Amino acid sequence: MNTPSPRRAAVIGASMAGLLAARILAERFDDVVLLERDDLPDGAAPRKGTPQAVQPHGLLARGRQVLDDLFPGFSDALIAHGALAGDAGSEVALDANGQRLARVTLGVRALAASRLAIEAEVRRRVRALPNVRMMTAVDVLAPVHEDGRVVGLRWQPRDAAGVAEPQPQTLATALVVDCSGRGSRTPGWLRDWGYEAPPEERVRIGLAYTSAYFRRLSGQPPLACVIGAATARLPRPSILIAQEPDAEGRERWVAGVGGYAGDHVPVSREAMAERARQIGSPEIAALAERGEMIGEPMRYAFAHSQRRHYERLRRFPTGYLVMGDALASFNPIYGQGMTVAACEALVLRAALAAGTHGLSWRFFTAAAKVVDAPWRIAVGGDLALPVVQGPRALPVRVVNAYMARVHRVAVHDVVVASAFVKVVHMLARPETLFAPRLLWRVWRGGDRAGSAATTSAAA
Ligand SMILES: Cc1cc2nc3c(=O)[nH]c(=O)nc-3n(C[C@H](O)[C@H](O)[C@H](O)COP(=O)(O)OP(=O)(O)OC[C@H]3O[C@@H](n4cnc5c(N)ncnc54)[C@H](O)[C@@H]3O)c2cc1C
Repeated sequence: MNTPSPRRAAVIGASMAGLLAARILAERFDDVVLLERDDLPDGAAPRKGTPQAVQPHGLLARGRQVLDDLFPGFSDALIAHGALAGDAGSEVALDANGQRLARVTLGVRALAASRLAIEAEVRRRVRALPNVRMMTAVDVLAPVHEDGRVVGLRWQPRDAAGVAEPQPQTLATALVVDCSGRGSRTPGWLRDWGYEAPPEERVRIGLAYTSAYFRRLSGQPPLACVIGAATARLPRPSILIAQEPDAEGRERWVAGVGGYAGDHVPVSREAMAERARQIGSPEIAALAERGEMIGEPMRYAFAHSQRRHYERLRRFPTGYLVMGDALASFNPIYGQGMTVAACEALVLRAALAAGTHGLSWRFFTAAAKVVDAPWRIAVGGDLALPVVQGPRALPVRVVNAYMARVHRVAVHDVVVASAFVKVVHMLARPETLFAPRLLWRVWRGGDRAGSAATTSAAA
């Protein structure tokens, strides 16, 4: 193969992580090529390569901040199409054990929009970048590896029926970023090239949720989003998120009720209503009992969370990176994936700013730090559930006992609720929940003053 093109970078996969990677690469490379297996729609439409995208997707407040930074006016564009924006503390409700945590005005906006609309807006912005090209309906076969570096990739077009045509082609690159999702083939490619595959962590959760869209009538309910946490006492998560109107102008909710390890909700609105009543989610129960359903109920199963530790490898090819779900894919009930991909995009920017020498080491080390906190939240939270199998060392048991108390106290204490919500939205590190001032407050059982529906937190 020819020497790599010093001015070209390529990205495998044009979903959220791939689009965000391309946005950053466009700051440094003359030619950025996104290669995507699907034909990409112009607007907010489902596609085969991202089957999860029709499921409820919450964008955490930190993710919204980063997307607004990378794409100025991003939130406003979605709001103009009917997405809701509300305070992350007061207009998003968090329930635990059938109780609602105290609502607190944080002064940070969260955005309630469909995942399809979020991705479509990001795609529209990336498409408009003059040095980004999208090659759609192409299958990346493998990167091309020569003498310790990736110098390009092999791809082949698909015909309209989705059947690969026989003529593979090659694209020369200086950098390839694998954003092909949790099914990424990089571990196998590394082995083929004579490297070790990264150590992989898997936490089996056997989650499945049943979800459905419902018509949203004005003022019903007066919240943009209701998140029902899974706890040891009630390991049954739920989610309700306002959505922008569909193509027929109908304002919508998307609702989901889930369970672990076989505790799954049958795929019917009656079963959704029954589960919502059992877990104490009045908003979802009312919609499932009496709401106007749009389309059919759906089921999505998610077997395990997985994380690949590329930062632990001693040898890794030059000119190659891995980002997004291909790096870490979290239990979706924590709503972290898009926000983590956005934070990794900032890591990519910082790593590239220091040059290409040692790029992969810099990127993977810093990306691991980004992944650490949400991974600890998701895996720690899952290991609090007796139905999830896995080793529970003493520190995990201590933290989970403390978190159960945080949930209880946050029902009436706005300072504890505020600290917890900031961690959930990735606005603060989990360690902040263990600051001495907060530990003492949680230990004492909190303060009941200001337990009204919404209060300004003095934290
Ligand atoms: C049920 C569910 C609910 C979720 N809910 C949330 C949520 O509430 N909030 C949140 O932030 N995140 C959520 N997530 C996670 C979120 O969907 C992902 O983190 C996000 O899509 C980023 O993923 P990605 O871009 O890395 O990979 P993906 O979205 O999986 O995209 C991979 C892309 O690569 C393409 N591709 C794959 N192989 C090739 C190839 N060889 N050649 C060309 N193209 C290829 C695919 O077609 C696809 O477009 C949820 C996930 C699931 C499963």
